[in-house]
Amino acid sequence: MSDSKRAPLALRMDVIAESATLRLNALVNELRAQGKPVINLTAGEPDFAVPAPVKQAVADAMAANRSKYTATAGIPELRALIAEKTNRQQPGLEKPWTASDVIVSNGGKQAIFNALFCTVNPGDEVVIVSPYWLSYPEMVKLVGGVPKVVRTTAESGFKMSPAQLEAALTDRTRMVIWNSPSNPTGATYTREEYARLGEVILRSPWRDQIWSLSDEIYDCITFGTGGFASFLGAVPALRERGVTVNGMSKSAAMTGWRIGWSVAPAALTRVIDRLQGQTTSGINALAQWASVAGLKLPEKHFADQLTVYRRRRDLALETMRNSGKITISTPEGAFYFFLGVESALRPGEDSVPFAERLLQEAGVAVVPGVSFGEPGWIRISFATDEKSLQEGCERLVAFIEKGSQA
Ligand code: PLP
Repeated sequence: MSDSKRAPLALRMDVIAESATLRLNALVNELRAQGKPVINLTAGEPDFAVPAPVKQAVADAMAANRSKYTATAGIPELRALIAEKTNRQQPGLEKPWTASDVIVSNGGKQAIFNALFCTVNPGDEVVIVSPYWLSYPEMVKLVGGVPKVVRTTAESGFKMSPAQLEAALTDRTRMVIWNSPSNPTGATYTREEYARLGEVILRSPWRDQIWSLSDEIYDCITFGTGGFASFLGAVPALRERGVTVNGMSKSAAMTGWRIGWSVAPAALTRVIDRLQGQTTSGINALAQWASVAGLKLPEKHFADQLTVYRRRRDLALETMRNSGKITISTPEGAFYFFLGVESALRPGEDSVPFAERLLQEAGVAVVPGVSFGEPGWIRISFATDEKSLQEGCERLVAFIEKGSQA
């Protein structure tokens, strides 16, 4: 006779939510297995191939047997290039970053988790701008922190105002998370906007205990004329309490290679190194060598990608404007549209059942906004080929228009 009692699981896992997209992904697979043509607009990754010099660098590293354990913080060549890139984006720093301020991590995701784990105590508040990337609140809760969500709207371009930030800061604030360009909204802060927001932190009575973590993973995808603004580039005075997170996933289409990093002041970098040394150790050596090549790609490579993204964005915009029922704000960066579909929801429905109906009836997969803090909204990705994107947007518009006539 077997004993069916399960051993207990850690209580800390009760605080984090399961991904709302799991059920949807299962449904996509089910429909595809039935031979139904599903257009998947959920992708959080570029559809481009990995650049040839990156592939070559892996082959070269392998041939040269550069595949042993690396230092926990990463190979010096990569750390140096990361410091250089960050200094280019943050030119006003009194003390520029050096390779020793960099920790290479298993994607930007691990870099963010490391930084939270090493700065946030139980009960500390972390300011998160909503709509937010879905992992921020979950990671904050996992380390015992309290997400302090500041809600923004399409009217304000999904950007937090200085007044909102001021109202959110308390004696418990330990960190503010910035994400520009934003996933899911594409909102992108200008240098001037960041400078004004940074002023609020600098004026705060709690300024010395507040970290600013800037997730700059979409830095290479901005559509405006002003280009990309790095948080510390706009607020260099916060260098000693600033962490910049970035990685190869979105810029060089290297999502599966799992290379990200943090650039942070020495004291924080030392403890992140200690944490990573007792958990994952150094990241995959071959992927690090590949990233050295990735960081040396010419500007033209990124400019060409941007041209493709811009064309897709405009194509999707044109198609979706055929419906008066979708609230659309034009993304200034990243590769997502965050769409208000409240007027297409049935009574009592949020965007989870809406997304299920859209998938079942129109064969289009999208991500419900619940995961990003806005239950009446959905996210679609334009990191997909033009034909699928156009067809997906046409089906979405037709679905919404049909529903509103019923
Ligand atoms: N930050 C944002 C805003 C993202 O959208 C993602 C990925 O989707 C990440 C961080 C993590 O990226 P990675 O762990 O692949 O570097």
